[in-house]
Amino acid sequence: MTSSASLLPNATVSTAAFKEQWLVILRSLEQKVPRSQFITWFKDTAILGIENDTLIVGLPLPMSLNWHLEHYRAITLQVAQETNSSMTSVVYKVDGSLKDDRTRTYDLLEAFAEPKRRKLPGRQEIKLAEGIVSKIMNPRYQLENFVVGSNNRLAYAACQAVAAQPGGKYNPLFLYGGVGLGKTHLLQATGNAILKQMPRSSVVYTTTEDFTNQVIEAIQQQKMEQFRKRYRLVDVLIIDDVQFLANKERTQEEFFHTFNALYEDHKQVILSADRPPQELQLEDRLTSRFERGMIADVSLPDYETRLAILAEKAQEYQLFIDMQVLQFIAEHATKNIRELEGILMQAVAQYELEQRVPTVKSIADIMRRLNKDPHEEQEHIGFEMTPRRQASFQDVMEAVSRYYSVSVQDMVGQSRVREILIPRQIAMQLLKKYLRMSFVRIGEVFENRDHTTVMNAVEKIEERMQMDPQMLREVRSLEKELDFV
Ligand code: ADP
Ligand code: MG
Repeated sequence: MTSSASLLPNATVSTAAFKEQWLVILRSLEQKVPRSQFITWFKDTAILGIENDTLIVGLPLPMSLNWHLEHYRAITLQVAQETNSSMTSVVYKVDGSLKDDRTRTYDLLEAFAEPKRRKLPGRQEIKLAEGIVSKIMNPRYQLENFVVGSNNRLAYAACQAVAAQPGGKYNPLFLYGGVGLGKTHLLQATGNAILKQMPRSSVVYTTTEDFTNQVIEAIQQQKMEQFRKRYRLVDVLIIDDVQFLANKERTQEEFFHTFNALYEDHKQVILSADRPPQELQLEDRLTSRFERGMIADVSLPDYETRLAILAEKAQEYQLFIDMQVLQFIAEHATKNIRELEGILMQAVAQYELEQRVPTVKSIADIMRRLNKDPHEEQEHIGFEMTPRRQASFQDVMEAVSRYYSVSVQDMVGQSRVREILIPRQIAMQLLKKYLRMSFVRIGEVFENRDHTTVMNAVEKIEERMQMDPQMLREVRSLEKELDFV
């Protein structure tokens, strides 16, 4: 027997008891999850039951299921165990009737009112050694308000590692990816984080354009020696958008020497570009320097990550937007994050100037005005893909089917023989990792399997790839065939 509240005698009592219990859990979660995300993702959630030491959490919308599974399940369990140590798992059920049902759920904005307006971090004073020029880094760019998803996880982890130990293992750190996907944010956030810990270090953030101009100026004024000396005093050098070094031989040359001097001194160098080093068309010696450390990409965020970023930004701009409106934006603005922010900024302006609370309609109007019909792009948002990776769902299924000589039909079917099971699980893993399909959606296309089945399959394959070199080779060769790597 457990002491769980589901054993209480009557339904009303247990509803009230669940609600109370949920509040205890929510209070603890609020401390552990960034507020904006907490408000968004835990809105209208409730405990639906506790059975056999399993906490059954109700979610009002199917779209948030995946996000909870990936991001909050472990922490929810951990928190639940703080009050009930016999709890062993958390499962989710989608229940539309939870919306605004205050007998079971809380109005989070009211129950978790902010004590004071959230203040953005103050402007950084950067103390630099004499004559060193650095752009002031935007204090809004912090690692703490960067939303992590599968599109940027590695890049984010690398930045964290660099912030913790500049000049350590990940030197240089090279981030690459398309426009508006968060490179500058990460670069400056890393710089800001280093400065926070070591306020007296000289962290220089510069764009390639500025660096080039400084080189040109130094040449013109015959102050090259001084220029070099100055840069060699830097502790951390961050250069944004190095694709613009292409065809600038003299700047490349200067940069090469600066880089070497800093690198040999174990100073951290962080770079960004719109493509990987080998595609930059720079001098080989420079490319090979860039490849020496850590290279990570940022790509297009999937739907859930877009939603989480929107929630974070809305919070930063102190704009409360209904979840459904955020969903509408996340569904229709798929190009990059700057686009998402642009739409949000317009909504903020409307709110501030005219006190108009954003609605789906007002957002659709904004998007139309920004020259973008929300219905135009609908066909792109089925199975999300990054632009560089062309393979489709069909391609993945066919490649796996060919490779293992099993039919696509068998792969989606029910057979559990090993010869079919493994290819099926590999296909699921590839679809998740490279096409960024959600567990729920993969489950749907594999004859309506439960998302937890898919999740387990993906986990299993990833585990096996680490232990079984043969399996690793097979998956790698499929990835290659599909142009994923
Ligand atoms: P890039 O340098 O890659 O062109 P930026 O770093 O300028 O892109 O990002 C554009 C905007 O999107 C910035 O306002 C940034 O804060 C925001 N942004 C991008 N990725 C994220 C993220 N994962 N979380 C929060 N904000 C993000
Ligand atoms: Mg940038």
